[in-house]
Amino acid sequence: MRNGLDQFPLLPQQLDHYIGGRFVPSQSGERFANVAPAPDQAFGDVALGAAADVDAAVAAAHEAMAGPWGRSTAAERARILRKVGDLIVEHGEELARLETTDTGKPMAESLTGDIARAAANFRFYSELSAHQSAASYVGEDGTHHVSRREPLGVVGLITPWNLPLYLATWKLAPALAQGNAVVLKPAELTPLSVLALMPLLAAAGLPKGVVNIVQGLGAESAGEALVQHTGVSAISFTGETGTGEHIMRAAAPTLKKLSFELGGKGASVIFADADIEHAAFQAARAAFRNQGQVCLAGSRLLVQRSVYAEAVARVLDATMKIKLGDPLAEQTTMGSLISREHRQKVMGYVDAGRREPGVEVLCGGRVPPSLPIGAFYEPTILSGVRQESRLIQEEIFGPVLTVQAFDNEDEALALLNGTKFGLSCSIYTQDIDRAQRMASRARMGLVWINTWFVRDLHTAFGGMKRSGLGREGGQYSLDFFSDFKTISTAVAAHKRSL
Ligand code: ADP
Repeated sequence: MRNGLDQFPLLPQQLDHYIGGRFVPSQSGERFANVAPAPDQAFGDVALGAAADVDAAVAAAHEAMAGPWGRSTAAERARILRKVGDLIVEHGEELARLETTDTGKPMAESLTGDIARAAANFRFYSELSAHQSAASYVGEDGTHHVSRREPLGVVGLITPWNLPLYLATWKLAPALAQGNAVVLKPAELTPLSVLALMPLLAAAGLPKGVVNIVQGLGAESAGEALVQHTGVSAISFTGETGTGEHIMRAAAPTLKKLSFELGGKGASVIFADADIEHAAFQAARAAFRNQGQVCLAGSRLLVQRSVYAEAVARVLDATMKIKLGDPLAEQTTMGSLISREHRQKVMGYVDAGRREPGVEVLCGGRVPPSLPIGAFYEPTILSGVRQESRLIQEEIFGPVLTVQAFDNEDEALALLNGTKFGLSCSIYTQDIDRAQRMASRARMGLVWINTWFVRDLHTAFGGMKRSGLGREGGQYSLDFFSDFKTISTAVAAHKRSL
């Protein structure tokens, strides 16, 4: 036993729900296999949640809200969040290993990306929320008005498989900072790391029942039961755009607050006056980090025609340096896709795309012959793709980059904005006026200038168009997880005059 963490690290063989501070199987007793993508082997089984398990989790969360947690101060909660951040750092290696086993992403990326950022989420919200903001006004007649925050109550979090612990903590930290209790449904493909977080929350002093996990599937299952539950006040969801539509419909009868982070079709836009070497390196990173399974991926490359050949050659060069292989090996920079089924979907796009007139496969487009076991797929670059192609219009969520040429800013913008998504893009230019013009005209929630992926946690995060609903990050997340109450107090002089 270390630090009282007798349940850490978890044995990955038996993955249950976590309800009221205990690991419990499904009420039905049903389970499903957890499959590691590389090598693709079942390595444990997971409780298959249903409405009854969601009911139990929501009841446990309400019980926690009725106890000391419901009366806790922001400062008390901030201390717990800070401790959680510290414990994640302390157990970073073990958590990274679980994440890599479950997702197939490179160990180095899990350690320095996902897990480090999960800890940062808790530390950030610990600091941001320690002193609760309240707006106060004094009316003309002297009445004092204060708008202050209260918790929403029990909130539901639904997360995807691409960044399991990072995205769970991105929602958990602000939800807890605002004093809510939580029922979290992780993606069915990645039940592991978030479950391993539960003993850390307990060790940090979080009371039982404040965070509950129900494992299982989304549609017509645990996910939908959570969305439809009358005891749940809000759903924060990250996943596919189509799933967001389903959730909105299913949530309507219970009038929940909703926050959606949905799909993206990001682009790296390289102008002739850019630092081409830097831009090409970043564009390759943007296309292939996490095997391209990131909503912020720069899955399109738009290059001004006069530097097209040079930029594409440099992106190819950077792509050739990617080390595809065993996710747990130190030198690996690209691991496996999440599953063979997902790889099939990615291959389907590439195979259909390469038959379109004018399309050329510049690299990749195959299962690597040296890695037959697992869900590996080579980083793939396709040129000559028409804007109407499904390769451009749909989110592939894999290591696939399309390249298009443009002549001027207007043409670049037409290509950039010419999809239904509006999440993110990078603009590479050394002309500051052009950079600002492009940033203003891009219909994207996030615009990077001469970089990609860097974030400050205070800023608004989310997409325009069909990439999302609402914003997360900093105060935006705290606002989402708050109910506001205005209290107006008559002062003595005012009362006498009535
Ligand atoms: P991904 O392709 O990343 O899995 P999804 O949108 O399918 O994206 O899934 C993201 C999360 O949403 C997962 O936890 C999944 O189980 C859940 N989910 C899928 N469909 C529904 C639904 N109809 N209602 C609630 N949750 C759902």
